[in-house]
Amino acid sequence: MNAPQTALLSVSDKTGIVELAQALHAQGVKLLSTGGTAKLLAEKGLPVTEVAEMTGFPEMLDGRVKTLHPRVHGGLLARRDFPTHMAALAEHQINTIDFLVVNLYPFESTVAKVGCTLEDAIENIDIGGPAMVRSAAKNWKDVAVLTDAAQYTTVIAELKANGKVSDKTKLGLSIAAFNRISQYDGAISDYLSAIAMGDDVPAGDKAPTLDLFPGQSNGRFVKVQDLRYGENSHQQAALYRDLYPAPGSLVTAKQLQGKELSYNNIADADAAWECVKSFTTPACVIVKHANPCGVAVGAHALEAYSKAFQTDPTSAFGGIIALNCELDEAGAQQISKQFVEVLMAPSFTPAALEVFKSKVNVRILQIDLPKGGSTAWDQGRNLMDMKRIGSGILLQTADNHELALSDLKVVTTKQPTAEELNDLLFAWTVAKYVKSNAIVFCKGGMTMGVGAGQMSRLDSARIASIKAGHANLSLAGTVVASDAFFPFRDGLDVVVDQGATCVIQPGGSMRDQEVIDAANEHGVSMVFSGVRHFRH
Ligand code: 5GP
Repeated sequence: MNAPQTALLSVSDKTGIVELAQALHAQGVKLLSTGGTAKLLAEKGLPVTEVAEMTGFPEMLDGRVKTLHPRVHGGLLARRDFPTHMAALAEHQINTIDFLVVNLYPFESTVAKVGCTLEDAIENIDIGGPAMVRSAAKNWKDVAVLTDAAQYTTVIAELKANGKVSDKTKLGLSIAAFNRISQYDGAISDYLSAIAMGDDVPAGDKAPTLDLFPGQSNGRFVKVQDLRYGENSHQQAALYRDLYPAPGSLVTAKQLQGKELSYNNIADADAAWECVKSFTTPACVIVKHANPCGVAVGAHALEAYSKAFQTDPTSAFGGIIALNCELDEAGAQQISKQFVEVLMAPSFTPAALEVFKSKVNVRILQIDLPKGGSTAWDQGRNLMDMKRIGSGILLQTADNHELALSDLKVVTTKQPTAEELNDLLFAWTVAKYVKSNAIVFCKGGMTMGVGAGQMSRLDSARIASIKAGHANLSLAGTVVASDAFFPFRDGLDVVVDQGATCVIQPGGSMRDQEVIDAANEHGVSMVFSGVRHFRH
């Protein structure tokens, strides 16, 4: 006859434990348990032996040492198929433990509580629980390890049906156990790092490791929330943020009103916010499907918004609007005339918020601007950029290049005017945030036509012109930014035919001379930036 099996139960969250213990008892499994759990099981009339009685050693140090004993770990770790292991157990009068049911001290929920002290946090770091879980999970062929109440019913059902738990289930339980432990240890290390580093120290100074996200998150992300769905309704989604988000980044936003943000709202809001942050004077960016469809600077929010809207009123419908300045009542009145999904600004006057009070669906986000400083992190920028590909990720440093006037090289006989130079820098900044191939017409600090995301630069140039036509804007006397070089003169011919008088592009094509000659032939000016801004 087989010796009866033994289960050790030691749980902080006692949900379902009595029912599980009853089912184990009904299968002839002996019950071993720690103080609080044993007390509960005994109260329910179950025959239970305290671990302290089994080890002959009392629980001590306020519970810090309860199960850290060779009688426990020997019983969990011994290989039943190794005679030497079984002989060692016999020699030391240790019984095997076949089921381990443990959930850990509630570290995560303790530190999530406002006002949690370091001492509370430390006392909620479970030591013996994870140690037992690791022993059992390592020896999964012989021990079923349950770390979550959701697993109880499966195990009870298998026990009832077959008198044992299958290897497949035991392996699954072991994997879940190691996952739980790594999650738990991660939460402890995140918490202690945050405490040690203080919240106001730039992350760049905190985490000098070279990992996926150096200095920024130390490779760690914190879940902010699950989202209703992803890009499409059949996709699941969640938002995570860096452990140390850069000040002035979208994830630091406070939502003041409106429906819950969707996956697409967040992606587009990020595109708009990243672009609008680039301007030092009042600016407005309207984004649709990740591309700016209108960008402008102005004396105040109303002017910047009105100009940005004019670029492409059709696309602006249902847009995501970002301002880098306070939104006052006049600006709010004007914006409220259009259908807007998300509205972002560093601040809103009470009167501006009042305008949107009745439009309960409009999502309004208040986001502090970056504090400013010399590092990308201080400026609220990511240091690294990543893209998921099949079974891998592509990693690169983020495109944080900023162009200065002194970087520009005029390559034509005609020189740009001071006004054109201003617009060139503006157009170049916008082009950086437009998906490639990007062609951006601008004049007077506003976009006049945006051609985005085409597979040919020529088509982007044509689309930008068509859009300007739809918006009844004249492209005469505009400047044009091209995110990468013109491979042939045809793209340049199109923009100049439309009325552009000055062009900025990186240069660097084999046919640069052909393009420069074309510009001279047309009598327009052209400058090379020396940098490309592909954005895919
Ligand atoms: P009980 O309520 O049964 O007294 O305690 C259950 C909790 O104690 C479980 O969360 C379990 O992970 C934890 N635990 C078990 N053994 C030890 C130990 O030796 N040290 C510490 N710190 N916690 C333990």
